[in-house]
Amino acid sequence: MKRILVTGGAGFIGSHLCDRLIKDGHDVICLDNYFTGSKRNIEHLLPHPYFELVRHDVIQPYFAEVDQIYNLACPASPVHYQYNPIKTTKTSVMGAINMLGLAKRIKARILQASTSEVYGDPEIHPQTEEYWGNVNPIGIRSCYDEGKRCAETLFMDYHKQNQVDIKIMRIFNTYGPNMHPNDGRVVSNFIMQALKNQDITIYGDGSQSRSFQYVDDLVEGAIRMMNSPKDFIGPVNIGNPNEFTILELAQEVIRLTQSKSKIIFEKLPMDDPMQRQPDISLAKERLNNWTPNIQLEEGLIKTITYFDNFIRDIK
Ligand code: NAD
Ligand code: UDP
Repeated sequence: MKRILVTGGAGFIGSHLCDRLIKDGHDVICLDNYFTGSKRNIEHLLPHPYFELVRHDVIQPYFAEVDQIYNLACPASPVHYQYNPIKTTKTSVMGAINMLGLAKRIKARILQASTSEVYGDPEIHPQTEEYWGNVNPIGIRSCYDEGKRCAETLFMDYHKQNQVDIKIMRIFNTYGPNMHPNDGRVVSNFIMQALKNQDITIYGDGSQSRSFQYVDDLVEGAIRMMNSPKDFIGPVNIGNPNEFTILELAQEVIRLTQSKSKIIFEKLPMDDPMQRQPDISLAKERLNNWTPNIQLEEGLIKTITYFDNFIRDIK
């Protein structure tokens, strides 16, 4: 049994990670300020004797004796991270400093939930970890992209300067149950719109692509990365290389929900990346042949069931 701190533990990915860590028999502290997360995501864990919930903001220092830290605290959807961009950068940068400081002091291993956004609007395809990215430092996505890039820098420097035991994982678009229904990300938007027979809003002409990973595959990758040999610090891409255009995604969601929704086209937001696909050779090689198992149709069906129940519950 390990003592494990999960920052952002009440969020979409964090709640699945807490579930899995508790199931695996660990002692878990879930830390969150509930900006985009919700107690609803983890309420079933509250009675568990080895689960602890802490309301805290990572821009303030925090202390606990743990063996491992998963640093996930940060809003991930463009709508939410652009709501208060200064706070988003503070969360990434000051959150990283505070959690790295904690890891250094208590000699814990710490894993950073970085992102494919560090590649920006990539000029090479698929993206390997060696690629440095094509990121606008002053655009509407910069608070998130540059915040996450700076967090990676801090992780590397704490490792080199203070020998902190770090891991960096670059997560590609991930979806599944517990996503915030109004968080504006494409999978949750399309499913909610389809279930309510509302227009499906494609930004741009829908030819931009993303590679969609189901959350269980990510959680497996994160746990393998955290427990990988000490000399493997990453960064490592964790994503599903199966790439779809946004138009294909909309059509698939309509088909699976048997929705009467029509597709409409709206303006493409500034700096919206045209394509994104992970090269996962490194993860396969270093994380015991890790590879995503759940493909889009299966994952969408599970997610549609979740949102369908969610809509029924709030009625
Ligand atoms: P999410 O918004 O559902 O979860 C983020 C959690 O962090 C929420 O519970 C939120 O309340 C909490 N949080 C935000 N600011 C905080 C602060 N200052 N102090 C404490 N808690 C705070 O998003 P998610 O999709 O679960 O993302 C989790 C992590 O994974 C994020 O770091 C995100 O950048 C990263 N990531 C996610 C994706 C994806 O596709 N979902 C892709 C790349 C990276
Ligand atoms: N998108 C869309 N309609 C929506 C929400 C998003 O067409 O209702 C597009 C968005 O412009 C982007 C893609 O879907 O091209 C993925 O968007 P998301 O916000 O999920 O993630 P990110 O852009 O960060 O990869």
